Amino acid sequence: MAGRNRTVVLGLGRAGLATVRYLLGRGEEVAVSEARPEEALRDEERAVCQGLALECGGHSDGFVLDAARIVVGPGVDLGLPVLCRAREKGIPLLGELALAAGRFQAPVIGVTGSNGKTTVTALIGHLLKGCGRRPFVGGNIGTPLLEYFQDPARYDCLVLELSSFQLDLAGEFRPDIGLLLNLSQDHLDRHGTMAAYADAKMKLFAHQKKEDLAVLGGDDPLIMARAGEIRGRLACFGHGPDNQARITGSRVVLTTTEAEEYDLAGSRLDSTVNRLNAAAALLAVRELGCAPEPLARSLRDFQPPEHRMTLVLEHRGVRYVNDSKATNVAAMQAAIESCPGPVMLIAGGLAKGGDFTQLRSLVAERVRKMLVIGEAAAMLAAVFQDLVPVEKSRELAPAVREAVRTARPGETVLLAPGCASFDQFSGYEERGRVFTRLVHQAVQEQERGQ
Ligand code: ADP
Repeated sequence: MAGRNRTVVLGLGRAGLATVRYLLGRGEEVAVSEARPEEALRDEERAVCQGLALECGGHSDGFVLDAARIVVGPGVDLGLPVLCRAREKGIPLLGELALAAGRFQAPVIGVTGSNGKTTVTALIGHLLKGCGRRPFVGGNIGTPLLEYFQDPARYDCLVLELSSFQLDLAGEFRPDIGLLLNLSQDHLDRHGTMAAYADAKMKLFAHQKKEDLAVLGGDDPLIMARAGEIRGRLACFGHGPDNQARITGSRVVLTTTEAEEYDLAGSRLDSTVNRLNAAAALLAVRELGCAPEPLARSLRDFQPPEHRMTLVLEHRGVRYVNDSKATNVAAMQAAIESCPGPVMLIAGGLAKGGDFTQLRSLVAERVRKMLVIGEAAAMLAAVFQDLVPVEKSRELAPAVREAVRTARPGETVLLAPGCASFDQFSGYEERGRVFTRLVHQAVQEQERGQ
């Protein structure tokens, strides 16, 4: 009965590797099932899997179901037939969070939401460091969370970005501070319905106790409708007077202790969405005891991660902005809203099931022209072409050239795709890098042409 104590790790990649190392470190019997063929494995993956039972090129019933439990990587589709059969057989499916639950040696901050997770996670990490703390920053961004266990003594707290997929298999994971930033249509291709997606996000709070803190986006009716399910203490952020972190103009006012103000004017956080992100982050770090003065200083020098409203360049009065990470409808909306003048919008890619008709009035008001690309091009054209001129081009390059050729002073050429990138790119980072390069090239060509 080889399977009785065996843990199958399904899906390698960086998180899978960290999982294998973690389990081996705990003396467990590990087997690995990976979708890629063996020749596609990286050297490091090969080295870690040396001597382990390993199947590549797919997940067979014989291999995967011969397990006491299955650890599913964050990118793996829970609807895979083999996982459905595992459930039928009663084999527990776990994610990284479930493995880690109860073993953290320092306070844990978990950040989730449809948009802003990476920004808020990075910001909390930055603020903590600015206050002399030693945070482990990871999860869905950068470092897989199980890497924390390689040297827990290095850290005095953890800040984890958590996706709905990770939360779906979070087991008894219990963050001391959980942040749910916002809830909008995203990943409906995978979760099916908005209710199922919201259920996954709410798992962040499922095991919190009354002494834990839940930080909620107070402007978001979908979130506030579910606030009653939370057992921990609540702290909300937003524009209304009842929020414990309230935004007024460029300032965030905290009312958790005495009134305390943070002015974001002149910083990279002074935009509609980043004020909200800053308010959420401040509630978390104040809870951990960070002092106001170093926080105010660190807010001023925070640089948001790349591909999020990153200014590529300004040329002839036109701003070129890379928001490649705007991969859903709400992020696209936020991007358009935060541009000062008319927008030449480059959008499209692989649609994720969101409803773009919500943006019709915003697009009519703020977008002068749309350039649509990728698989979603025809769908986007159908939604918007009666409102604004829409040009379809399969590739990004002709869209950028056209934007540079026709943009007028005072306008912003904005890459905010509202879609995933995987139809044409390896990810949003590559799409953002290609956009940046194409903008530089097209602008230089325009200069030479004069
Ligand atoms: P996530 O990790 O949740 O995808 P990011 O911080 O990477 O979030 O930002 C993703 C996209 O959402 C970017 O286009 C960014 O400009 C936009 N964004 C950031 N914060 C918010 C927010 N609070 N509400 C809406 N959109 C946001």
